[in-house]
Amino acid sequence: MHTQTGSAEIEERLAELERLGLGRRLRLVSGPQGPTVLLDGKPVLLLCSNNYLGLADHPRVREAAAEAAMRWGVGAGASRLISGTMTVHRRLEERLAAFAGREACLLFGSGYLANLGVIGAFAGSGDTVFSDELNHASIIDGCRLSRAQVVVYRHRDAEHLLWSMRRHGGRRERNGRSLVVTDSIFSMDGDIAPLREIVELAHAFGARVMVDEAHATGTFGPAGRGALAQAGLEGEVDAIVGTLGKSLGSYGAYVCGEGATIRYLLNTARSFIFSTAPSPPAIAGALAALELLEERPHRVERLAGNARALRRSLAAEGFRVEADEMHIVPLVVGDERDTLRLCHAAIEQGVFAQAIRPPTVPAGTSRLRLAAMASHTAGDMRLAAGVLASTARKLGLDPGEIGTPPGKPEPEHAPVQDAHAGAGRGLEHALQPALEERATPFDIEAPRPRRPPAPSVTGEQESRAPFDGEREDAVAHAA
Ligand code: PMP
Repeated sequence: MHTQTGSAEIEERLAELERLGLGRRLRLVSGPQGPTVLLDGKPVLLLCSNNYLGLADHPRVREAAAEAAMRWGVGAGASRLISGTMTVHRRLEERLAAFAGREACLLFGSGYLANLGVIGAFAGSGDTVFSDELNHASIIDGCRLSRAQVVVYRHRDAEHLLWSMRRHGGRRERNGRSLVVTDSIFSMDGDIAPLREIVELAHAFGARVMVDEAHATGTFGPAGRGALAQAGLEGEVDAIVGTLGKSLGSYGAYVCGEGATIRYLLNTARSFIFSTAPSPPAIAGALAALELLEERPHRVERLAGNARALRRSLAAEGFRVEADEMHIVPLVVGDERDTLRLCHAAIEQGVFAQAIRPPTVPAGTSRLRLAAMASHTAGDMRLAAGVLASTARKLGLDPGEIGTPPGKPEPEHAPVQDAHAGAGRGLEHALQPALEERATPFDIEAPRPRRPPAPSVTGEQESRAPFDGEREDAVAHAA
């Protein structure tokens, strides 16, 4: 019921969000997601779209979607298990399974839904999910919904994952199932999970592995086949999740794995079972984009070239940015309000890089998240870097203080790469001495700066909690 008290409380909460520099509003883009767009009527260089390969508005992709609308209609009309499985779904599933080098594939309505569905199917009450602290919100929510115990390990820290698994047991030592879940390329940081170590650990402990390749598909690895393909691990994980909404220029998502796994998911993943099948034009558009990616992988190289140019230009302007080829470039400012001011002022100067603030990233690490696209030019990148640097200076912010978050500190006793030196014996064996040396491997009373106490076992993943009662915990967790 609509009450006076209800709307007053909502107004109050909105005002508090504004006060904290956490207010959000929609900005309107006219036209397709090209390298430049009209933003609220103003021309700007677009530096925050996930249309990484520029395929969302490619003529072949548009035509495929338009033709599909004429042939199959716009809506699928029902969920996949009722009458919503159409020829076009089957075609894309077969192509994606081959692309991922796996037996089978299942389409979902979105990456968010795929993550909810897979985690819930692999883990439930009495089971344990091990989750990287910077995993995407859809993974966090999947963990929460699953009702499993959730153990959050430090970002990209295989040693901490090992410690957590020893402490909380793998399937071998307990009756419950275990699942390790990670982004491959992290959405807000543009860094890569230690996939080989994660797979080794999971195998050693009898845990399943799910990897979210949302930001790696089409951008990374051989011909854009992702970070698992780059590491030669496509066949070693239980579920590969990908989205159609980024490099593949459309909307929807998929999960690839063994035939039995996919049959299990279609029987048990609630977000698959209880949601309408993706719309035929979206699926046909993604199919055309996948064909383009496979036929002409030069787009992946072009994206890497633009990412390099962006990073080089930012570094030349004094930002703290590494000179690699990762297309996601976080410019961490820290303070929420400063980040927002920089974002607004840059838009005024014709560069659109969205401000990313809590709960999307931990408090105090607000940033502009820049994303290169294959459709940019090196000139675009130079222009963007110049505008961002001069705007920052005008606002009294020092570009030298803005950039990539500090890297993961090397483990103190046993560098992770030693795990490979102990060939065949596995990470657990290689790291044993390091673990025995420590009475408490990660001191809960004295966490390292900017790192949470470890591990956080909650039944809920707390980082990036929403603006509500959980927030204080979340801030402590992420501080
Ligand atoms: N996983 C990751 C890592 C993501 O960044 C996103 C979207 N930002 C998703 C999943 C969700 O995918 P979708 O947009 O298809 O729901």
